[in-house]
Order: sequence, then structure tokens, then C-alpha cells
Amino acid sequence: MAEITIKNVVKRYRDGYPAVNDVTLDIADSEFVILVGPSGCGKSTLLRMIVGLEDITSGDLLIGGTRVNDKAPRDRNLSMVFQNYALYPHLSVFENIAFPLRLRGGRSDEQIRKLVEDAADTLELREHLSRKPSQLSGGQRQRVAMGRAIVRQADAFLFDEPLSNLDAKLRGQMRTEILRLQRRLGITTVYVTHDQTEAMTLGDRVAVMRKGVLEQVASPRELYEQPVNLFVAGFIGSPPMNFVPAAVRGGTLELPFLSVPIRPEWKDRIGDRTVFIAGIRPGHFEDADLVDAAKRERGVSFKVQVDVTEWLGNEQYAFVPYEAPADIAQQLAELEQELDSEQVRTQLCVSVDPSSRIKDGEQAQLWLDPSRMHLFDPMTGQNLTRGQGQAATAVSQSRASELGSVPTG
Ligand code: ADP
Repeated sequence: MAEITIKNVVKRYRDGYPAVNDVTLDIADSEFVILVGPSGCGKSTLLRMIVGLEDITSGDLLIGGTRVNDKAPRDRNLSMVFQNYALYPHLSVFENIAFPLRLRGGRSDEQIRKLVEDAADTLELREHLSRKPSQLSGGQRQRVAMGRAIVRQADAFLFDEPLSNLDAKLRGQMRTEILRLQRRLGITTVYVTHDQTEAMTLGDRVAVMRKGVLEQVASPRELYEQPVNLFVAGFIGSPPMNFVPAAVRGGTLELPFLSVPIRPEWKDRIGDRTVFIAGIRPGHFEDADLVDAAKRERGVSFKVQVDVTEWLGNEQYAFVPYEAPADIAQQLAELEQELDSEQVRTQLCVSVDPSSRIKDGEQAQLWLDPSRMHLFDPMTGQNLTRGQGQAATAVSQSRASELGSVPTG
């Protein structure tokens, strides 16, 4: 087991494009870190540099305190689990798991048998040891691939999108298995995915990448509640955060469907800017009819025209069209391109309690606690209100206890 230190690491492929651009990240011993981001953001490249399958253009990579930039993959004692499992079809499960031990040599058949059987017990594969990979389910093959990683007693596990070949149900099960196993074994783990659910559920910390750069590294909770910028805010969370044009007029922040007084804690942060993108999570709206009187006072109620609703049993979405003021519409269009997403829309997604009586095509009274709202600079995308409001208190407390228990250096 070991910590992994990534210092100012750059990767330029032959065309000169920096696929990974000055990434610095300390991964603590036993920590589970997720690299997440859209396709092409450089996460696989970063993982492949850690494992040694890709040269590092500049910067330093340390494993257990030793610089390993120039070490061959087999000398790094890391174990990689690939998306296609890379199992040998003609070998039994036993031999597939034993493979790295035989390759290394120095162990008797008896020692190998013991190690393979122990790993098979951990992974509940004992009764499948004589089978061939083709006789296993996708989930079992995945476990064999992990077994191969376990017997090597590697310093760290590296996963490259290991679940993306599986159907949704199995993916959920395997996700839980990987988490359980990682917790039990306490092995430092770096896990690449483009799936934000995997990122949020598996990681002690999640590193969000975009265009070769680390945008934010934080606990899932902090990413969700205190995103540093529009990109992270839009990437994390499902359904995604609503991005709504907002403008300051007098002492009021005006959105297309509501106005709120400028909060004292916003004043210093927003400076003399007059236009913003307000970020509101769908779940932060509530059906005003279901909010009790005491709570109602802490927020604002406002009327909207509902277009359609979607009732999903455990939650209910309502979609509310609105018109962005012309002066902000252009900026929003540019932002949409920049973010490569359709999140900057002229429609709100609101997630209300399933018991809500909000109906298609009718008016509804919604409620919002404005302290949950984020204000983003429309030019830089920076979250101006980060570290404030109701959510921030909980985060700083959990962050403090995390920092107390997880060494970051
Ligand atoms: P991700 O894993 O996030 O999808 P990658 O790390 O695979 O992203 O790729 C990051 C960027 O580097 C992409 O623009 C990709 O096209 C480029 N890239 C990846 N591998 C190579 C390569 N062998 N040669 C040149 N460019 C590459």
C-alpha cells in the first residue's frame, strides 16, 4: 500500500496538444480517488501515466515517496483492471488469477494455490475456479480481473472504466462490490469513469477533469454543494443544476420567475457585476403548498406556469419554461457552447415531492431558500458564492473532520 503523488504532470502527445496539463494531486494511502470528466478530458492518459503505460512529458510521479517516472510498469507494483478485463480465454479462472504470480516466479505451486484460493474466497469465486471466462457472467469476469489484482498484493489498484460494459443493474451491484472490497482491503485506488454516479458513490475524493486540467478535487458532498465553477456544477448532479440568467437591479437579484433581495453575504463577492448565472439544484425547489409556515418564512414563494410533469414514484419533476432577457441570452448561448452542454436552457427542471399536486399545464406555487442558490460569473464561470449559505456550513464541518483523518500530503 502506498500514497501516490502527482506533481505538475504534463502529457503532450506527438501533436503537441497537452492531454494532461499541469496536474497536481496527492492521493493518500488507502484512499479511493475517482478521476471523472467528459470523454477526452485526459483521465485515461493520467491513469496510464501512473501505471507506466504512457511516458510523462514533464512533472513528477511518486509512489510511496519514490519517484517512478522512469520505472517500467512491472517495477511499480501497481495493479490495473481494464474495461474488457483482459482475461485469457483459454485459461481457467484459477490460472487467470494465478497468472501474475507465475509470471513473477519465486513461489511454489502450493504458495500460489493458497494465494489464489484466498483471493477467490474474498471475491466469492471459489466454486468457479475450474471454469473458463466464457462460462462466467460479466460480473464474475470482473471479479476474476480483480482477483488477479489482489493476489499480486499491489501497492495500488487502478481501474479504467471497469463497469462500462455491464448493464445498469449489474453495474450497480459491481459498484457496491468494488466499494466493499476496497474498504476491506484498504488499498489505495484510482478509478477512472465518465459516470458521475460512480464518481459520487465510490470516491473518498473526486477529481473532476476538463480539457486536461483538474477543475476541482473534493469529497462528493463538497463537489455537489460547493462546486468551484459552472463546469463542475453542471457535471455533478442528476438531473443537472439549473443555470438561470440573473441581473442585479437596485438591491434586488432578478431571475425570470422570481426576485430576491441581495443577501448581505453576497455583496462582497459579487462586486460591481450586474449579470450572473444563478445555479439552482432541481431538488432545492419545493411545492409551496407542502412547506410549513415556519419554513416558508425563510424562503421565497413564487408562481410559475408548469409545462409538463414526470412522476417517478420516489420523485417528481416539473418543467417550467421561461424566457431569458435578450441582453443575457447571447451570453448564455456562448456559455452553452463553451460548456458543451444543453444545460443552459430556457426551462427549469424542478424536483418536488411525489405527493405534490402540481399538474401539467397549470400554474403552481414554488418555494426556494435563496441561500441555496449559487451565483456564477458568466464570463469566467467562477462560483462567486462558494463557501457561503446553508450548505457551506455542513461542508466545512465534514471537510474539517475529513482533513483530520485523511493525510493530504
Ligand atoms: P479520456 O480518458 O478522458 O476520455 P484520454 O486520456 O483518452 O481522455 O484522451 C485525452 C486527449 O488526448 C484526447 O484529446 C485524445 O484524443 C488525446 N489522445 C489520447 N491518446 C492519444 C494518443 N495515443 N495520441 C494522440 N492523442 C491522444
